[in-house]
Amino acid sequence: MRDMTVRDVPPTRPAELGSSQSGLGQSEASQPEGSQSRSPAFQSQCRDLSARLTESLAGQSEHTFPQAALDLLRRSGFWGVGLTAQHGGPGLDARALLELLRAVGRASLPLGRLFEGHVNALALVSAYGNVQQTRQAAHDVKTGHLYGVWNTEGQDGVRLLHLPDPLQPQGTAPARLTLQGAKTFASGGLHVTRPLLPVEGPGGRQLALLRTGDPGSVVREQDGSWQPLGMAATHSVKLDFSGSVLQPGDLIGAPGDYYRQPMFSAGALRFCAVQLGGADTLLAETARYLHALGRSGDEVQQLRFAPVWQGLQAASLALAEGERLERAYAADQTTGGQAMQERLLVQVDAVRLATEDACLALLEACERAVGARGLLEPWPFSRLIRDLRMYLRQPAPDAARLRLGRWVLEHSNGSEAEHGTGLPESELFESGAASDTHNHGSQDLESR
Ligand SMILES: Cc1cc2nc3c(=O)[nH]c(=O)nc-3n(C[C@H](O)[C@H](O)[C@H](O)COP(=O)(O)OP(=O)(O)OC[C@H]3O[C@@H](n4cnc5c(N)ncnc54)[C@H](O)[C@@H]3O)c2cc1C
Repeated sequence: MRDMTVRDVPPTRPAELGSSQSGLGQSEASQPEGSQSRSPAFQSQCRDLSARLTESLAGQSEHTFPQAALDLLRRSGFWGVGLTAQHGGPGLDARALLELLRAVGRASLPLGRLFEGHVNALALVSAYGNVQQTRQAAHDVKTGHLYGVWNTEGQDGVRLLHLPDPLQPQGTAPARLTLQGAKTFASGGLHVTRPLLPVEGPGGRQLALLRTGDPGSVVREQDGSWQPLGMAATHSVKLDFSGSVLQPGDLIGAPGDYYRQPMFSAGALRFCAVQLGGADTLLAETARYLHALGRSGDEVQQLRFAPVWQGLQAASLALAEGERLERAYAADQTTGGQAMQERLLVQVDAVRLATEDACLALLEACERAVGARGLLEPWPFSRLIRDLRMYLRQPAPDAARLRLGRWVLEHSNGSEAEHGTGLPESELFESGAASDTHNHGSQDLESR
């Protein structure tokens, strides 16, 4: 085990966020939902960002943590995108956020995973933190801190203990809050300076924010805990937090908030967006390879990619529908209530399945199309394939499939509305989803 105390924390890169380079000021935050993602300016920003990120990653080993690319994101104007505009975020609407995540995923899946975790953590602080905590998070964003959510754990998962303070006479001071235990799959590992830990406390699962530079924080990395098939650059190691001391202000929200629906499960829409970004790049690279070899005219190759494109398009449309239902729920939860939430969660399962199935079909088609020769260096396929295969492994996939199937048989009445997108036709074609192919869901402790 490598020991990490405050002094060992990697230096935080200062942010240069100052004026937003994203071009999305607060005024644009007040535009109708969805309009940002369809604006040519935003789409061109996403393309440009993706290209610059790709450039910054060129030539890096697949084990190298993407520090330079993260620094680029810090300066992009989007570093605080997980915070609501009210809490200091850039005011991106939900659909634009998914577009942004997909654009980052196109550049690199490991980078997308890290950024998605950062966004997720800030969204949780925005949703459940008090005024002081959200202000602190906005300040952390300005100073470039990297957030993450580390929920996954094994038998030795993290517990929150209220222990008597040994420095105070018994009964004279409140108990000390200490952590005991470890997390697995902690994306970003020791590079994350603001990990948000769902920990088991006396009242249930409690969100605790650790400030790795502060006295009291103890983080030990278990050597050899990360030798994955792909996504090596995320450094998703096992970390032990035993002995860390927290302050009451480090606890975010109330016990049980982390599992509150629909936020707990709907976060899956964001990792699906990143995964689809990786799929976009794999498909584009495969087409480029076939062109380069003069094989794109071959009918067998062409036949292979018709269902692949169809699957990716279906996943993109399902994702757009998930985002629309999430927005509808947020706007109308008082009247829509339980039924809207149920429909949204069913859609999240559908997006997960559509994304997983489409990506697996793409992986299979790509491997067959490029053959062994294409799976050699310097072609990018081996790495892209391993990253996507690894990242597709998310919590309890079969449980999601089962829930969806059960719901379908209980609710299908033959009407198109049951499975239609519900989007007006004009919006469907403008959304970009239709033309764009070029701890979520389980309370199991092993889930995020
Ligand atoms: C690159 C990467 C980065 C990650 N980063 C983070 C992170 O930063 N923070 C974090 O919290 N997590 C992280 N994770 C973990 C992730 O969120 C999932 O928890 C993890 O990937 C699930 O792995 P699994 O395939 O073993 O899932 P499982 O849910 O264990 O699924 C594996 C198989 O077991 C089956 N199964 C599941 N439950 C049961 C059961 N009760 N009985 C029988 N069968 C069952 C499933 O259907 C499936 O077939 C990361 C994962 C990856 C791959």
